[in-house]
Amino acid sequence: AALEIAQRVRTAASAVADLMHEQEAYLGEIDAYAGDGDHGRGMVRGSDAALEAIEEAPEKAGPASLVKSAGRSWAMQAGGTSGVLWGASLEAAANTIDDAAEDFADDDLIRAVRAFADSMVTLGGASVGDKTLLDALLPFADSLEAHGGSLRQAWAAAVADAKESAEKTSELRPQKGRARPLAEKSVGHPDPGAISMAMILELLGKSL
Ligand code: ADP
Ligand code: MG
Ligand code: MG
Repeated sequence: AALEIAQRVRTAASAVADLMHEQEAYLGEIDAYAGDGDHGRGMVRGSDAALEAIEEAPEKAGPASLVKSAGRSWAMQAGGTSGVLWGASLEAAANTIDDAAEDFADDDLIRAVRAFADSMVTLGGASVGDKTLLDALLPFADSLEAHGGSLRQAWAAAVADAKESAEKTSELRPQKGRARPLAEKSVGHPDPGAISMAMILELLGKSL
């Protein structure tokens, strides 16, 4: 069962890297209004590095060790704020997973998502409304935990909340990160990190 989950981690990593390649130009464009325009590039570099680490891992590697090495490579190779946050938080999520466990239950996934979100909060020091990726991730994690029913349904409802909140960042002024000095220019455009977060969460839901 652990190998089965590991296989799903491999498939997901490859899908995320493909998606980031597809969206690279758009994510760069929305990072250029007030930021430095490199969010697409950073997400491509990070997700490619994560995929490469996973491909180079031993065939028998469990899901936790795969996600851990993916996170480490992402943080080291992406560059930029989002890269460090994504990489370190993937590692934090992996630390909640037991490689030896026979079974990976819905609650285990929900716990990993919360650890991922907590790590983003702790490392970045941002809050909801600061116009960061947290504006997609925190509503997602809250909604996922609150929803009853099947994991598929809960994930889909949480994705809808994440996408809506990510779009709504258009109205906000960035309080953190590189976009802060040019905050006014960012109004009318969504936060790139929130948009990429919502996209990835949506993609991951397709494999549940
Ligand atoms: P950089 O800003 O270093 O060029 P990126 O362009 O890759 O890095 O990422 C920018 C995104 O990082 C922002 O859109 C925002 O979502 C996110 N971000 C920036 N600072 C923080 C923070 N302190 N906490 C959480 N997310 C942040
Ligand atoms: Mg940038
Ligand atoms: Mg940058």
